[in-house]
Amino acid sequence: MKVALFEKPHQLNVTHKDLRRLNGDEVLVKVTACGVCGTDLHIVEGSSRSSPPVVLGHEYAGIVADSGKESNGYTVGDHVAIDPNIACGTCFYCRRGEVHLCERLRALGVDIDGGMAEFCIVPSSQLYHIPGTMTPEHAVFIEPLSCAVHGIDRARIRAGDTVVILGGGTVGLLLLQLARISGASRVIIVEPVEWKRTIATRIGADEALDPMAVDVFQNVRDLTGEGADVVIECAGRSETVALSLKLARRGGTVEWFGVCPLGEMVQMEPNNVYFKELTIVGSYVNPHTFDRSIALVAANKVGFDHFVVHKFPLDGVHEALKALAEGKTIKSLILPTL
Ligand SMILES: [Zn+2]
Ligand SMILES: [Zn+2]
Repeated sequence: MKVALFEKPHQLNVTHKDLRRLNGDEVLVKVTACGVCGTDLHIVEGSSRSSPPVVLGHEYAGIVADSGKESNGYTVGDHVAIDPNIACGTCFYCRRGEVHLCERLRALGVDIDGGMAEFCIVPSSQLYHIPGTMTPEHAVFIEPLSCAVHGIDRARIRAGDTVVILGGGTVGLLLLQLARISGASRVIIVEPVEWKRTIATRIGADEALDPMAVDVFQNVRDLTGEGADVVIECAGRSETVALSLKLARRGGTVEWFGVCPLGEMVQMEPNNVYFKELTIVGSYVNPHTFDRSIALVAANKVGFDHFVVHKFPLDGVHEALKALAEGKTIKSLILPTL
């Protein structure tokens, strides 16, 4: 079968790989679509951890093509989405239910062959049934949305809260919709790219500020009075991390969701946190949120129709990564059947 194999930094090759036999608890999935995300770019650049050689792709969905004897009721023809994160189940954190903090966390598409392929072998524990009516173009968002659902849980938005989201990429646009569902009275998005601000406004942002053109601090003050109840940073940049502390009101919550480059440092005044008694939270991957993410997509509570999405065949994987890296798309999709 054809796969996109990451061999070492700056070497991602479309090649052929033989399928091995299934173990009893494994399922063979025919991939219908696989999303490309920032993590894939970082892996290929060598700035994010992985276990090469490995087939990339951790945001994907497909149809069951074969199943082992103990495959938990997954049968040929079932439509499925895949949770790529595999916890060991026995370490200190797993035994406390904090599976995402697992000391031996591994992921499909990072450490084990993933979804940028015609087929993928998946442990049945990582599979979730999805409605056959859900399009592959929507199903690829289940994984990033499950991370955003965890982020919204961590942000503890209350009905009526004002929320600022720094960054209008995939995750920012997902968090924006989840903030609305959670009862935010006003959601302000801060994003330098005009067409991304336009999408944000179309899908429910009350204000979309251009940080290159306006004083974001003053604008947020004017719009919220005291500063925002909740500020979510999802640009992964040191300047926006520092800004997030300034935009929150006294007693507010700041969430750092964006992934900064390894080793990135931030200049900030700790007194800001002390004096304002801020709560700062991180959010990492998607513990126990996959079911809720599927439910949201299946019920059309989160929309993707306004997103700018580009589709590529497996042979176009380099163009797919390039489109994302150059900021020309909200999501590049690999459709192995194209
Ligand atoms: Zn991802
Ligand atoms: Zn563990």
